[in-house]
Amino acid sequence: MTHGKLIAILPGDGIGPEVTAEARRVLDALDLGLVFEEAPVGGAGYRASGHPLPDATLALAKRADAVLFGAVGDPEFDSLERALRPEQAILGLRKNLTTFANLRPAKMFAGLEDASTLKPEVANAIDLVIVRELNGDVYFGAKGRGTTDAGLREGHDLMRYDESEVRRIAHVGFQTAAKRRGKLCSVDKANVLETSQLWRDVVIEVAAEYPQIELTHMYVDNAAMQLVRNPGAFDTIVTGNLFGDILSDQASMCVGSIGMLPSASLDAHGKGLYEPIHGSAPDIAGQGKANPCAAILSAAMMLRHSLDASDAADRIEAAVSAALATGARTPDLGGTATTRAMGDAVLAAL
Ligand code: ATP
Ligand code: MG
Repeated sequence: MTHGKLIAILPGDGIGPEVTAEARRVLDALDLGLVFEEAPVGGAGYRASGHPLPDATLALAKRADAVLFGAVGDPEFDSLERALRPEQAILGLRKNLTTFANLRPAKMFAGLEDASTLKPEVANAIDLVIVRELNGDVYFGAKGRGTTDAGLREGHDLMRYDESEVRRIAHVGFQTAAKRRGKLCSVDKANVLETSQLWRDVVIEVAAEYPQIELTHMYVDNAAMQLVRNPGAFDTIVTGNLFGDILSDQASMCVGSIGMLPSASLDAHGKGLYEPIHGSAPDIAGQGKANPCAAILSAAMMLRHSLDASDAADRIEAAVSAALATGARTPDLGGTATTRAMGDAVLAAL
């Protein structure tokens, strides 16, 4: 069933190409008959054709059955106007593909207790997924810079959601919880934000359709605290774009490294864009230091969610686990393995 399926590979910038290369090697080894096409994105897209999201790249992403994305961001382009900066490519892809639901699982792999910032017994209990809304919030609201009447420089980003946007992500949250331990925690800041009050109202309405799910609500500041105090208590978290961004980076350190966390960004029909939660990491780019596990695990999520190949996904996840068990570790996990060596270890385990 995977035979002939088209995968768009968009390596991007910094460590993006290094980690997607390892994910590609793992997919190749599984011999699933997938067809791969690569295209530049981010700073690489700008270099190739003057735009971070070239038309041909977007067209490929739309045509493909799934997109495997590396990372975008290149300090060389920081001074460009916002619309031309590398980061705009991923926002444009998410918007154009209507991938509004971002699934970010965080699970403790055996043996990584040393890398976690938490006590082993606290870290080992982590098995959660953050369902982050991806098409709204301050990222897409009106933005601007100006001057106040008093002549002071001013900046603003509008935080905005409408009820349909909240409803569709709430459904994904409940459905994700239903496939797991049946517990959904909706995270907001309803004590101070109107968007959060709307969020809470709509989540409560949607809950009526999922009587079997245990729904709780938590303010984001408390959620940040609970995530390091007692993360084992979380099953599924559903939250907005900004809060989800922050909480998932935090969750990554609880399980050892940002280099371990994959993600799936899904549209309403199961088509998806798959990427590690980390960025382009310019500080370690080109040095073979990047941990490819997040990209490899993203490929596994792609097989599971968009290509109906759960068995192959299970095999990849087991291979990552087995590779870590042999002691293979990139520097972020306290080891000395290169990106390629870590990929080799996963391939060997496969
Ligand atoms: P973005 O805005 O795209 O999320 P960011 O500013 O959050 O990017 P990252 O690129 O994710 O930053 O990098 C944050 C830190 O984590 C950096 O020190 C980077 O070297 C490290 N890091 C990120 N990804 C990896 C990885 N795969 N392996 C090892 N270290 C990583
Ligand atoms: Mg980040």
